[in-house]
Amino acid sequence: MSPDLFLGIDLGTSGCRIIAINERGEIQGRSHVPLPPPRRQGMAIEQNPAQWWQAIKQALTSLFQTVPAKAVRSLAVDGTSGTVVLVDRNGNPLTPALLYNDSRSHAEARLIAEQALPHSGALGPTSSLAKLLYLQSCPEALQAAYLLHQADWIAFRLGAKLGISDENNCLKTGYDSIRQEWPDWLSRVGVRRELLPAVVPPGALIGTIDPSHTETFQISPQAKLVAGTTDSIAAFIATGAEKPGDAVTSLGSTLALKVASEHPIFSAKHGIYSHRLGKLWLAGGASNSGGVVLRQHFTQAQLDKMTPHLQPQQTTGLNYYPLPAQGERFPIPDPHYSPRLTPRPLDNVTFFQAILEGIARIEAQGYRQLQLLGAPFPSLVKTTGGGARNPAWLQIREQTLRVPVITACETEAAYGSALLARQALS
Ligand code: ADP
Repeated sequence: MSPDLFLGIDLGTSGCRIIAINERGEIQGRSHVPLPPPRRQGMAIEQNPAQWWQAIKQALTSLFQTVPAKAVRSLAVDGTSGTVVLVDRNGNPLTPALLYNDSRSHAEARLIAEQALPHSGALGPTSSLAKLLYLQSCPEALQAAYLLHQADWIAFRLGAKLGISDENNCLKTGYDSIRQEWPDWLSRVGVRRELLPAVVPPGALIGTIDPSHTETFQISPQAKLVAGTTDSIAAFIATGAEKPGDAVTSLGSTLALKVASEHPIFSAKHGIYSHRLGKLWLAGGASNSGGVVLRQHFTQAQLDKMTPHLQPQQTTGLNYYPLPAQGERFPIPDPHYSPRLTPRPLDNVTFFQAILEGIARIEAQGYRQLQLLGAPFPSLVKTTGGGARNPAWLQIREQTLRVPVITACETEAAYGSALLARQALS
């Protein structure tokens, strides 16, 4: 008999990834199917949910060419936070999905700002709540039964009960995860409360695979659907970070920090909010600094060529604050904050190293800021993103942070969702 399999499905804007793991968390199979680019018209950015489903079906078909579908015990789905769709009582989409970065809902965001608590995740025109208010006013909304997030809709298509979501996806829809309820003020902005999904913690059991899929894919009829999360929380889970003080720094185009804390931390002016995950809270913030600054000055080939010549044990003494343009949000909330990238040394490697040192200081300042607000200072920092493959930078950051800094072994959101799927049955 084949060993049990647990599937994590990660749906993003650009594609769908599936990872199958066994009981020990070892990857047994994976598949990836790209999605057509979203339609853009001004501030409106839309995608047809039917294309998501098409991609999921293709990815499942391709996965089951390498691993046995019958061995699947559970599945969990993560999706892009802030991507939503309005559905009827049969779960059929009534409108195109509004993507995470669709920012047309300005008037709605203003209304929300008058009523929401200052730290609410539902602030801003790209929040799921602003999108719900916008969608509610469309003629299609007359037949609406629920607002679903991307992950909820896919879980429903796979067999979960209609109208269920998880705490993490609901944060941007206004859910109060401290009190674990949809707050009263949502009625004051005119939300049709019956459209809000029932909320469960990530990892909760939410259904059994739909019989039609047991036929199409030969998935075991006992396979369970498990509540997922957002893509960034799934990526945090993937790294294996799980106890207070475990931190994950993402060194992608931007610098994003997350630390596991026993208490939730919120700071509207820093853009810091916390996601509940089991008994912990993941508190995080994102700076405008990051790899994007490196790419303003160097090509990827130049970065790769210079990396072995960095001298982490010998600091440059240059005190940079690397930003791609004016304006910072975290750890310094100042829309007029200026980048500091001078004086520029003649030698490119020194310039490169000074930028890395500057970003490392911002990271340390960020974790200190989170600590000031009540989070533990990290005891270990795992690193993800393009910058994680620079060993000298790990050393520079370790010297600055004075805690161990390592590269995360697994970083894919699909792997984090697969861990959630496994944990639900253990
Ligand atoms: P994204 O957030 O866009 O998905 P990635 O995680 O793919 O980004 O990371 C890309 C970033 O990694 C680039 O902005 C680049 O500056 C950075 N990067 C690539 N190679 C190196 C390197 N050797 N040292 C430091 N940063 C690097």
